[in-house]
Amino acid sequence: MTNSLKIHNQVIINRQDLQQLLDVLTQQEYQLIGPTIAEGAIVYDEISQVEDFPIGWTDEQDGGTYRLKPRDDQAVFGYSVGPHAWKKYLFPPRVRLWSAKRQDQEIQITPETPDSTKRALIGVRACELNAIAIQDQVFLEGVAVDPHYQASRNNIFIVAVNCAQAGGTCFCVSMQTGPKAKQGFDLALTEVLSAERHYFVVEVGSEAGAQVLSQVCHTPATEQEQVTADAIIAQTAENMGRKLDTEGIKELLYDNLEHPQWDDVASRCLTCGNCTLVCPTCFCSNVEDATDLTGDHAERWRQWDSCFSVEFSYLHGGSVRNSVKSRYRQWMTHKLASWIDQFGTSGCVGCGRCITWCPVAIDITQEVKAIQESNK
Ligand code: SF4
Ligand code: SF4
Repeated sequence: MTNSLKIHNQVIINRQDLQQLLDVLTQQEYQLIGPTIAEGAIVYDEISQVEDFPIGWTDEQDGGTYRLKPRDDQAVFGYSVGPHAWKKYLFPPRVRLWSAKRQDQEIQITPETPDSTKRALIGVRACELNAIAIQDQVFLEGVAVDPHYQASRNNIFIVAVNCAQAGGTCFCVSMQTGPKAKQGFDLALTEVLSAERHYFVVEVGSEAGAQVLSQVCHTPATEQEQVTADAIIAQTAENMGRKLDTEGIKELLYDNLEHPQWDDVASRCLTCGNCTLVCPTCFCSNVEDATDLTGDHAERWRQWDSCFSVEFSYLHGGSVRNSVKSRYRQWMTHKLASWIDQFGTSGCVGCGRCITWCPVAIDITQEVKAIQESNK
């Protein structure tokens, strides 16, 4: 067992010792959050033991389709991303911002204390690390810092997992966000499973990661073990379910704001907003105030919103984006073009969720391709 771990050292944790990692995090008072099965999907929720992970399960994904199916092995992380994004812990769907009380003529406003629960997020994929980095920019690096996001973000420990298989709708290779976790994690695991052995090649990404790992049984990774892990990730990269040609994409979309493809997609889109709710980078919200019947108590709540709702673009007198066409175009051009102007990166990390969870299988990669092909 090695005690002096450095950042980017690679070590081996055997499958039977994986529980130790969870135990050390629990001892350090982290709430453990990881993939688990609920309602026929792999979702992120509180876990306490390795058996809570979807061991021996995988998923099949395509446009508008998601199915779990048993694997023929006992892989712990043998599936790709499900409908949940980690943003639900950093930017919750609903949060009270403040409450106010009136006593006589005095009004007392109490801001909500931000949630600073220590959480260990286990099983964060490379595309999701990139999505968190994008939301960091939005919530922490602009003119205003969001105290709720900041409090949660400052208290997370990230155990990333390099993908050993690509989902049917994944295109992280096109977006250069995966399938290998490159930064933004404390520890990153690559699961290796053969007839003889089941282990994890672990990369250390931070001092906190090294400190946690020093309390878990491990051995230094041999060169062969590292080569094996790299080969698994390279194989995943070869098997992406989708592709997106991003060359000149910003100019392409800006030059085609009246392209007939927007009418075509509008004839299929239900404006349900699923694509925005499952997207790990979408950050839009609205605020609502509520008062009780006496008028003595009021609260302000923030909740996720979607650019697919008519009300979202309401300005004095009416909505700016009345048509389905204008709303879909807004979403896609923001993701792939104006996000680059606004934040310097794409707003899409290629996780494929918007394709899988669109009830009518609208596929962002196909919509771009249709415009690209007609411009050739
Ligand atoms: S693209 Fe699909 S998921 Fe998004 S709003 Fe339209 S129908 Fe819903
Ligand atoms: S736009 Fe779609 S593929 Fe891109 S990050 Fe959002 S959900 Fe994932």
